Amino acid sequence: MAMPEIFRTRQNVLPWESDGIRVLPPDLALYHEASSILKVWYVIQGNDRDVIDFDLAGITSSKEVMILTQALRNEPYKYQKTVIIDALTELHDAALDLSVPEKDRHNLDFACAQINASLWYARKLRGDDLDNLDYIRNSQGVEEPKEVSPEIIDYQIGQVEKARSEAGITTDTIVDFQDWRKIHEIDQEEAQKELTDAITSAFEKRSKFLGYKGAPPFGVKPVYVNAYYYVWIDTDKKTGSFTMQQNFGDIERPKVWTSGKTEELGWHEGGQHLSRMARRQQLIGRELPAFFGLTTVHGPEQIIEEGLGQTITLLVPGAYDSLSPEGKFHVQNTILRSLVYGNAHLRINTDPDFSKGDFIKYVTKHLPWEPIDEIEEQIIERTKNPLKQAYLWAYAEGAKVFLVLNNILSVRGAKALLKELDSKPFISSQLLSLANRLMKDRKNVRAQMSPWAYSEFDSMIKNIESNQLHNV
Ligand SMILES: [Zn+2]
Repeated sequence: MAMPEIFRTRQNVLPWESDGIRVLPPDLALYHEASSILKVWYVIQGNDRDVIDFDLAGITSSKEVMILTQALRNEPYKYQKTVIIDALTELHDAALDLSVPEKDRHNLDFACAQINASLWYARKLRGDDLDNLDYIRNSQGVEEPKEVSPEIIDYQIGQVEKARSEAGITTDTIVDFQDWRKIHEIDQEEAQKELTDAITSAFEKRSKFLGYKGAPPFGVKPVYVNAYYYVWIDTDKKTGSFTMQQNFGDIERPKVWTSGKTEELGWHEGGQHLSRMARRQQLIGRELPAFFGLTTVHGPEQIIEEGLGQTITLLVPGAYDSLSPEGKFHVQNTILRSLVYGNAHLRINTDPDFSKGDFIKYVTKHLPWEPIDEIEEQIIERTKNPLKQAYLWAYAEGAKVFLVLNNILSVRGAKALLKELDSKPFISSQLLSLANRLMKDRKNVRAQMSPWAYSEFDSMIKNIESNQLHNV
């Protein structure tokens, strides 16, 4: 097994990133140690590495990390995981005890949730017998995971229906919808070109809205894998540059690319993930310690990242209107799919009486065009795959929160929200507190606010406030 090139060097590291960590203030020392642990874990994970998604930090590894890495490489993974779990437990306890100036509180709270998520993921991978709800709660940094209300589901069904009829798409039965997509399918070369253009354009429009300069290089690479995703963006571990893996599927899980799908995903990948991660990369080593440049798929930040990925066209002025009718349909349909699957995800993982049959019935009731094969794959992933059991629910929670916020915030409010979210990492309770603060200024709120959105937001805020009281 070759050593991944994640340990590449970078010239502009701050002295505290390459020298000993003893001289550091305690919170910075903590971040340093946390990123060391994640990197070691990444190395020993072997071929199916997944604990680090983006590596935006690109710092030199410390000598300790190198030695530990060597020492662990030939040990059984079960033992290695215990080493990691012990280290993360110690670190999490230290983080809980740490006191920092108020201005550094946000980052420490985030780091605490992120370390805790890694700890729970490592325990899950070791085969510990964990309660499913505890596992989802701790990996996602949400005290009380709740189903999306029928009001929000109904609202979103209305959005899908409107977009569907405007696009002339028939989705009365599975066959209708699949036929429609097949007729409009584009070939691989065209799909790659359209996706590349859509990513570039979405990136530019979001940057213009927020006043950002410059654009990072990125590549689009075709892959053919049995996975739920159409595009996966991460950093190339050799070069550090951003890569979009465009999935054309395999025989078992084929992917049909249409022009509308490339528009939707151009915004999701380019207008959100690429944009926010490129911004993060600029902040690493300056305003943010390197630890915050290591994102994880299993961690609490995915609620923000995937929530925005799905809803970004609703928040950037003019973005949604610039989509074709088919593109609009995909945006709305993806959100509805996430909400519906998310509710079924919580039920199947917490209610022993909720069977696979109930799962299929619940999904097809709201999404009659969803193929049964796909639902069956999703059931396996959401109950048997430790990464996806934690991660896939984030799409639902994130879509819900931003759908609600989109119906409350004005353009000014949305802009302030996005800028703040781009400036550092957030867990969902931090996002809600931020939105609550922004809403105190009337100019950040729409002149006509949807009453259902406000009551949903109110109950989310009450929920985090009561949990905070609980924790004092
Ligand atoms: Zn995404």
